[in-house]
Amino acid sequence: MTDLFALAKEAGFRESYLLPVAPYTDWTRHRNDGVFHPNVNPLVSDPKEAYPWANAILICVMAYTPYEDESLVASYYPASNRGYHAMKRLLKRLQDAGIPAERAETPYREQLASYGIGSRMDNQLLYIEPYGTYTNLQGAMLALPEPVAYTPRREPKEVCDHCGLCQTVCFGAIKGNYVFDWTRCVHTYLEGEPIPRDAMAYMSSLLGCMRCQTVCPKNPQESIPIPDTVKETLDPVAVLLGNRKAAGELIGKNLAGPNRLLRQAIVLAANHKRKDALAILLKLRESDGERFKAELEYAISLLQNE
Ligand code: SF4
Ligand code: SF4
Repeated sequence: MTDLFALAKEAGFRESYLLPVAPYTDWTRHRNDGVFHPNVNPLVSDPKEAYPWANAILICVMAYTPYEDESLVASYYPASNRGYHAMKRLLKRLQDAGIPAERAETPYREQLASYGIGSRMDNQLLYIEPYGTYTNLQGAMLALPEPVAYTPRREPKEVCDHCGLCQTVCFGAIKGNYVFDWTRCVHTYLEGEPIPRDAMAYMSSLLGCMRCQTVCPKNPQESIPIPDTVKETLDPVAVLLGNRKAAGELIGKNLAGPNRLLRQAIVLAANHKRKDALAILLKLRESDGERFKAELEYAISLLQNE
């Protein structure tokens, strides 16, 4: 039989787990109670119904090492784009091997946690040994020839000791003891327009923040220098000058769209005290002043008062 785990490795994933297809009852209840951000609403809660042809789900881990300096962008975003493309490669390899496969639109974290493979943390991320929370997860539904050897279920492990460090650095989402208010996580404002002023003042890097995982003592402590291509491409002034195609190649087209990246670059240029952005922002106010009104007002007044 095809070695699925080897195929996943060849596609670029560090690790993968083969799980049975089962409904996610607790997750669905929480979702229906509004516990999660609405962008999880389209996820499938009963994969048996949504993918009746599938007999397994392969969840794959794109692990990454954080940047020494995440003040430009969190290392998660380029990793998530690498994960997306690795899954595309894997689907092609599976199809070439004669295995029907489709990207799984399911709650991967919930699946791994309920299977004992990962541990939930107060910052709402999933801890997977030995990567900590530095992972992007991708999944594929598969129709495998029987019998299927699933990854063995593990004993659930408590990793978070509720030390409160993530709560201290957070904008207001982390409440402790696994309670999380998604309306107070700055990631929420990836979609939002306009960004609330207090969130703008809090924003430290493009596309939200990941302070809650860099501060977590349970995470691996290694870091790497931020690659030059990331530094150059996601420099907020470079984004303002319109290099969104290159940005799309790094973080994915969706995130690089103007309503997300450009909106955030306006705020970040000001928070990073980039005086060289002021002339560009004044020009942008003439062409796109209505769309980015709140962000431009905030950024221009901050830079003018520098
Ligand atoms: S920082 Fe402390 S409370 Fe937060 S996730 Fe890590 S261990 Fe848990
Ligand atoms: S990403 Fe930032 S705002 Fe969101 S939970 Fe983590 S620390 Fe809080």
